[in-house]
Amino acid sequence: MANKTVKVIKINADECNGCRACEAICSAFHATPKYGTTNPAKARIHVNWDPLRNLYVPVYGGPYVEAECLGRDRYVIGEKEYDECLFCRAVACPSRDLFKDPDSGLPLRCDMCEDDPSLKEPMCVQVCLVDALTYEEREEEMEEEKEKLDELEMGLETLIDKYGFDKVADTLARISISKQAET
Ligand code: SF4
Ligand code: SF4
Repeated sequence: MANKTVKVIKINADECNGCRACEAICSAFHATPKYGTTNPAKARIHVNWDPLRNLYVPVYGGPYVEAECLGRDRYVIGEKEYDECLFCRAVACPSRDLFKDPDSGLPLRCDMCEDDPSLKEPMCVQVCLVDALTYEEREEEMEEEKEKLDELEMGLETLIDKYGFDKVADTLARISISKQAET
């Protein structure tokens, strides 16, 4: 077993005012060149909102799904009623146009602003002036094999974000062929 630092962003939906600064900075941070453009449609965070019901729910792009789920629950929290979809982090859900890059169609998953050197806090947390988003780190025990797989997955996602899926897949295929030729 090894210790792993788990990064956590706490979301306090009651504090969110729908300013969407988090979406803007996320898209700018991930633009090429960095900060070159701002386009909330390319953000890895999305603020679901319904101003008439005073509902603002920031959600992060999470796991990829190919199919839409069939059920729809409703949550009552305090005096507010929320549709389940308002909390859903699924990336590229076929029933909505969220977390899909509008140019490439690639899924947009939150990478916690991985950077070198690491940021003290993710960008969306830094720009949220009302503390609807706050950042924490905690240590958790983890099997080493699982930790390596998580790192590999995150590394591949970063490469796919940078070069596109087809280029990364082609490169892996080329490396695989040359490795096979060596054996
Ligand atoms: S920056 Fe904060 S207050 Fe503004 S939309 Fe994002 S979470 Fe809400
Ligand atoms: S943590 Fe970084 S990548 Fe994730 S939503 Fe916030 S700004 Fe975007």
